[in-house]
Amino acid sequence: MTKQIAQILDGKTLGEKIQLQLKERIPILESKIGRPPGLAVLMVGDNPASAVYVRNKEKACTKIGISSYGRHFPTATSQDELEQVIEALNQDDKVDGILLQLPVPNHLDSDKLLYKIQPDKDVDGLHPVNLGKLVRSEPGLRSCTPAGVMELLAEYEIELEGKQAVVVGRSILVGKPQALMLLEKNATVTIAHSRTQDLGNITRTADILVAAAGKKGLISAEMIKPGAVVIDVGINRVEDGATVQAYLVGDVDFEAVAKVAKYITPVPGGVGPMTVAMLLSNTVESYSKKQ
Ligand code: NAD
Repeated sequence: MTKQIAQILDGKTLGEKIQLQLKERIPILESKIGRPPGLAVLMVGDNPASAVYVRNKEKACTKIGISSYGRHFPTATSQDELEQVIEALNQDDKVDGILLQLPVPNHLDSDKLLYKIQPDKDVDGLHPVNLGKLVRSEPGLRSCTPAGVMELLAEYEIELEGKQAVVVGRSILVGKPQALMLLEKNATVTIAHSRTQDLGNITRTADILVAAAGKKGLISAEMIKPGAVVIDVGINRVEDGATVQAYLVGDVDFEAVAKVAKYITPVPGGVGPMTVAMLLSNTVESYSKKQ
C-alpha cells in the first residue's frame, strides 16, 4: 500500500499562533484607544452548523480580548428590524466589526443586509466596496476564508508566482475572492464551477488546487497532479448511522490524495481555524484604525 507522502498544512497551529499575536497586540492598542476591540456577530434562526460557528467565533474573541456584541434573532425577525440593528451597530463606537452569519432565513434579503454594513466594519469582506478594493489589489478588509488560505500558503513558503492555480467554486464568499488573491500573487488562475465540463482535466493542471464546492468526495486522487498543493475548503457533514454522530469531511478524498499531493490541508484543522483567525485579525485591523 502506498504511504501518505503529503505534508500537512496545519491551520490549527497557525491559527493559534495568529491568535496569540493578536492577543499580545490588543493591550498595546487598548492603551491608546481606551477600550477593547468589539465584534458583533449576528445570527438569525436556528441553523445548528451556524450556531457552532458563532459560538466558536465568540469563544475565540473572549480568549484574545475582543468584546462580543453579538445577537441571536428568532427566524421570523423582519428585514426592517435587522437593518435597524445593523445601522445602530454602524453608529456604535465600541463596535469595530459586524458579521452577518450566513445563511439567513429565506424571507430575508441577505445582500441588502450585507450592503447595510459600513465598509470599514465589514470584517467578512463581503461589501461591494471591499470586494472592489480586492479587484483593484488595494488594501481593505478581505474575505476571511480565502485570506486564511493565503496566510497558510505563505506560512509554508509555497511559491505562487507563475504557478497554475485552480479554484473549484465561484461563490462571492470563497471562490471568486480566492481566485483574485491568487492572481494578485501572480499565479495563473482557472476557476472551475458546477457547469465546468470534465473537472478532472482542469484540476490535473493545478500546481495549487483550492476545492471550495461543498461536495464530499468531489476531488479524487486521479484528479491531482503529482506534487500539487491541495487546499480543502469544503465542509460537509456526514451522519454516522452506527453512532448517531455527525462528523465533518471536506471536498477532497484526503487519504487517497495525500498519497499523490506534496501538501494537503486536513478537515477539520486546516482552513476552518484560519477563517476564525482572519476574522479576529480583520476586527483588530479595523480597531487599530481608531488610534
Ligand atoms: P456555495 O454553495 O456558495 O458555492 C459552491 C460553489 O461550488 C459554486 O460556485 C458551484 O458552482 C461550485 N460547485 C458545486 N458543485 C460543483 C461540482 N460538482 N463541480 C465543480 N464545482 C461545483 O458554497 P461556499 O459558500 O463557496 O462554500 C463552499 C464550501 O466551503 C462549503 O462546503 C462550505 O461549507 C465551505 N466553507 C468552509 C469555510 C471554512 O472556514 N473552512 C468557510 C466558508 C465555506
